[in-house]
Amino acid sequence: MKPSSLYIHIPFCASKCYYCDFNSYVSTGEVMDRYLDGLEKEMELLSKELPWEPLKTVFFGGGTPTMFDVKQTERMMNILNRFFRLAEGAEISVEANPGTVNLEKLRVLKEGGANRLSFGVQSFHDPILKKLGRLHDSLTVYHSYEKARQAGFSSINLDLMFGLPGQTIPIFEDSLRRIVELQPEHISAYSLKVEEGTPFAIWQERGKLQLPPEEEDLAMYQLLMDTLEAHGYQMYEISNFAKKDHDCRHNQVYWRNEPYLAAGAGAHGYVNDVRYVIQSSVPGYIETCLSGKRPVVEREEIPAEIQREDTMILGLRMIRGVEHARFKERHGVDMHNVFGREIERFVQEGLLTDNAEAVCLTKKALPIANEVFSGFLIS
Ligand code: SF4
Repeated sequence: MKPSSLYIHIPFCASKCYYCDFNSYVSTGEVMDRYLDGLEKEMELLSKELPWEPLKTVFFGGGTPTMFDVKQTERMMNILNRFFRLAEGAEISVEANPGTVNLEKLRVLKEGGANRLSFGVQSFHDPILKKLGRLHDSLTVYHSYEKARQAGFSSINLDLMFGLPGQTIPIFEDSLRRIVELQPEHISAYSLKVEEGTPFAIWQERGKLQLPPEEEDLAMYQLLMDTLEAHGYQMYEISNFAKKDHDCRHNQVYWRNEPYLAAGAGAHGYVNDVRYVIQSSVPGYIETCLSGKRPVVEREEIPAEIQREDTMILGLRMIRGVEHARFKERHGVDMHNVFGREIERFVQEGLLTDNAEAVCLTKKALPIANEVFSGFLIS
C-alpha cells in the first residue's frame, strides 16, 4: 500500500509551554529560513526516494507552523506544491496558535492550498493559560478565530485540555460553553498527561503541581462528551468530535494504522512496514538535508504481529472501531483468529461490542480505554 498522506513538522514556538515534550524550539527568523532550505531539500529527496500516491491528506504540525512570517509561510506551501501532487479534494491541515496569525498570513495559507486550521486553544480561562505557560489569552483566541473565518477557512479545529492545574469542573464547563458558542467544525480535547523531562514533571516530583483528582478528571471527560453531543458534535474518536463531514481524515490514517510519509525535524513516518524517525536537532537536520541526504536516524521494520496489535490499539480509539473486513484486507487473517480470546473477554466485561461489521469500545470502556488497549499487547 503506497502512502497518500504526509506529515510535515515545523519545530518552532514563540515560547515553550510547561507541559510540552514535543520537538519544538524558540528560534530566530534566520534559523527558520535555513530550516526551510533544509525542508525544501528533504521534500525533494523524499518525493524521489519513497513510493507515494497523490496526497489525500497533509498535516503541517509542530511546534507552531504559523510561527513563520508571511514570506516563509508562502515558501512552506510552495515547497509542498512543488514536490508533491495532491489528490482532488485533499485535506491540508495547518496547526496554529492564537496570536501567531494575521489576515495576510492566513490568506497566504489558504492560497497555498490549506483548507483546515487547528488552533491550540487549551482553555478560555486566562489564569490557567498562564499556569500552562501559554502566551495567548482568551481574547486572542476570539481575534485569531475571526481572522481565520475572514480568510475563508470553513473547517476549523479548536484544541481543549482538561485535568489542568487549578481547573475545576465549573471552569472547564465555562470553556466548553465558550467553545461551543464559537461553533468550530471540529474539537479535540485531551486530559493533561505529565510528560517526563518537562517543567510540569519536575514540579510534580517536588509536590508543586496540584492537579484535579482522578474523579474530577473523569467527570470533566463525561461533561465534555455530554455537552458536545448535545450541541451536534459527533464523537468519532476518544478525544475527537466533529460536525458532519468534518472528521480529520489525516488522523484517521494513523488510527487505521495505514502508511504515511513524514518530513521535518523529529517527525516519524511509516512506509512499507518500516517506521522511520527523522533527526530532531534543528542544526543537525539542516546540515544533513543540505548535504543531500535524507535526515533519517532510525529505521525499524515492524513485525507482522506488532502491526496487528497496532491495528487493534489504534483502531479501537475510533468510535466505529476496527472493521473485520479492513483487518482481514490489511493483515490477511481474520481478527478472531488472532485476538478471539481478548475480544471475548472484553465483550464479557462489557468493554467491547463485536458485531458482523466491527469490534468497538462500549461507552463504559471510554474512560478506561487504555486498559482495553493494553489487553491487545499479546506478542
Ligand atoms: S505551542 Fe504546542 S508545540 Fe509549542 S511549546 Fe506549546 S504545546 Fe509545545
